[in-house]
Amino acid sequence: GVLVVGSITADVTAFADRLPRAGETVLGNDFTLVLGGKGANQAVASARFGTPTWMIGCVGDDPFAELTSGGLREHGVDTDLLRTVDGPTGVAHIRVDSSGQNDIVITPLANARLDDAQVDSGLAAVRNDVSVLLLQLEIRASVTAHAAAAGARAGLTVVLDPAPAVPVPDDIWPHVDIVTPNETEASILTGVEVTDESSAARAGQWFLDRGVRHAVITLGDAGALLVSAGERPRLFPPFPVQALDTTAAGDAFTGTLGAALAAGVELADAVRHGMAAGALAVTRAGASPSLPARDEVLALAAS
Ligand code: ADP
Repeated sequence: GVLVVGSITADVTAFADRLPRAGETVLGNDFTLVLGGKGANQAVASARFGTPTWMIGCVGDDPFAELTSGGLREHGVDTDLLRTVDGPTGVAHIRVDSSGQNDIVITPLANARLDDAQVDSGLAAVRNDVSVLLLQLEIRASVTAHAAAAGARAGLTVVLDPAPAVPVPDDIWPHVDIVTPNETEASILTGVEVTDESSAARAGQWFLDRGVRHAVITLGDAGALLVSAGERPRLFPPFPVQALDTTAAGDAFTGTLGAALAAGVELADAVRHGMAAGALAVTRAGASPSLPARDEVLALAAS
């Protein structure tokens, strides 16, 4: 199984022909309210792949708590390790214009209350049921670092999606088996401007030099580059699709990669499964609603 430690938000999205300027009010033409947050999205991607998936995270005591934890359960994620804290559930406030351009304010709220003790007790409860730990950077970085160390100590395969690219403690890297940044995140974290295969290989090497075992730099519609110690970097070509909305491609990738690894798939094939899930996610609107089911992922990965 897979254990995800991370963020849960209600994604509150308003659609309008154009985004308002500062101080301006515009009339919109559509609205959605769905489960989101990188942690939750990756948990949903993993569960939809068919791998038993648990999530450690925090929701508040407001109406968004049922929206988000209910959404996780609906997609098959086990929510027994979630904690309900006083105050509001985390929110992502998103505006999208007719060209698909967006701006986003993420307010962590309950997500900021996730702490080391909750990680430790949750991990202890499921350590015999899971082999992969999925982490991102939408909760406090110190808690992510604690989870990485605890997961490594428990013998789990630790996968870190370093998104958003906030500063992380340097001692996290030796606990990370696989890191999955996109080009922007790899550039910010390593200082190597990633624009092509060779710069992606240099960025990947930066992570390896700090103790990470494998770096997968995701390159959007150019596929992904796998950089492993002692091996030649390996470019995986993309699955060609008609992109509609690139939201959650990275979450689909990492969640499915983790789920495939936990199901015993070897790394190169797990990367391919993740890429197929990412490609399918960009053919549909939204975050969690765009995450594909197992059969679709397997069909595209085999093509
Ligand atoms: P993020 O959403 O974090 O920026 P990427 O855009 O790199 O992540 O997408 C993750 C993976 O999803 C890519 O490695 C690729 O395999 C797949 N993917 C993303 N966008 C496309 C696309 N337009 N066409 C085909 N595959 C895509």
